[in-house]
Amino acid sequence: MFESLTDKLTNAMRHLRGTAKLSEENMAEALKEVRAALLSADVHFKVARAFIERVKEKCVGQDVLKTVTPGQQIIKIINDELTALLGEGSTELSSKKPLKIMMVGLQGGGKTTTSAKLAKSLKKDGYKPHLVACDIYRPAAIDQLETVAGQIGVPCFAKRGTPDVPAIGEEGLREALAAGDDLIIFDTAGRLQIDEQLIDEIKELKRRVNPDEVLLVVDGAIGQEAVNVAKTFNEAVQLTGIVMTKLDGDARGGAALSMKEITEVPIKFAGTGEKLDDFDVFHPDRMASRILGMGDVVSLVEKAQETIDEKDAANMAERMMSGDFNFEDMLKQFRQIKKLGSMSSIMGMLPGMGKMAGNMGMDDKAEKQMKRSEAIILSMTPKERQKPQLLNSSRRTRIARGSGVKLAEVNQLIKQHMQMKKMMKKMQGGGKMGKGNMKKM
Ligand code: GDP
Repeated sequence: MFESLTDKLTNAMRHLRGTAKLSEENMAEALKEVRAALLSADVHFKVARAFIERVKEKCVGQDVLKTVTPGQQIIKIINDELTALLGEGSTELSSKKPLKIMMVGLQGGGKTTTSAKLAKSLKKDGYKPHLVACDIYRPAAIDQLETVAGQIGVPCFAKRGTPDVPAIGEEGLREALAAGDDLIIFDTAGRLQIDEQLIDEIKELKRRVNPDEVLLVVDGAIGQEAVNVAKTFNEAVQLTGIVMTKLDGDARGGAALSMKEITEVPIKFAGTGEKLDDFDVFHPDRMASRILGMGDVVSLVEKAQETIDEKDAANMAERMMSGDFNFEDMLKQFRQIKKLGSMSSIMGMLPGMGKMAGNMGMDDKAEKQMKRSEAIILSMTPKERQKPQLLNSSRRTRIARGSGVKLAEVNQLIKQHMQMKKMMKKMQGGGKMGKGNMKKM
């Protein structure tokens, strides 16, 4: 079955029961799992190692929280750290006018499409865009840029039949300025791999048109190679921003972390589809949970931290420890679960679970079941709730009638309660579980 990172971390950290603080030793296993998750998200191995080192420093010495599992706690720390790192720097573009933007990157990364997306989005902000076609090698690139320019109603400068790219750039710039346009976007050539000639050409183009922004456009699925690409382009033309494209695909996006770590250049935008409106500023939090493969488990932890009252939980734990778990307590438990949101929304937050639960009607079933159980408990008198041993057969029949369920269901719930109580007694007898773990239940 699908095992999420939290499950793995929870397993890895089983031995943390009763420990008060995270330490380098007790976290070793968990950090190994995190490292594996980063690598499978295509984060470069050196970057993953450096990142783990940093997280380790953050974690060591922290108290083990009582309301979440240590695994969840670590996910939260890692997620926060990842979000902070990915979100360093601003997504704002230079405020200069006219604003000159040069787009660079490998072929197929989405430069041409992104040039048009950016023009469209900034046009809405009041800019007068002008596109300049500087990719003269890919046969259809100029046509493609002219087509998208037409779609967004923006002029496009192109010059066929000359290989002098820097000269084309200069001429395009002159024409755009003469037309009174104040946003000039240069769509440059890419190769399948970086080569010297390409780098020399864009360096010269940069020198001649002096752009305010140099944006590296990369496919979100690029993988380990991202480090090389980002490094080379940054050294050659000093990037001012990165655009990650194709985030609508299922790539885990580890390249974002790799490139950020290597270049320290902010990730400014995200491409989320083939249409010219599928464009957004970059959201580091979304990228972080994507890289960790955690769906929204982090917000689930946050929600749990917010809604479950520590004091309530402590009282409940106290009662469980004393072996005195009655129907009042069970009702409270149901209500705490309900506070977290509907069963389906809780399931939806768990990676891989949402769809599965939905398909199987599981969320519905669990929710209905909980409602019925709640109705049964509510049909008991307060005395019966506190002293379940009072529940003889005539009382059970009355409760079934009162809550509109079959007698068998009442019996089932009473049996379930007895089993829970027994389990708690056992744990208490075994003495293996500390109070912290009782609270978690
Ligand atoms: P270039 O060679 O870097 O100029 O890349 P293009 O702009 O020609 O894009 C290559 C392909 O990727 C095209 O088919 C685009 O439609 C597609 N593409 C670009 N950005 C995105 C995106 O954000 N999502 C998806 N799904 N496709 C994209």
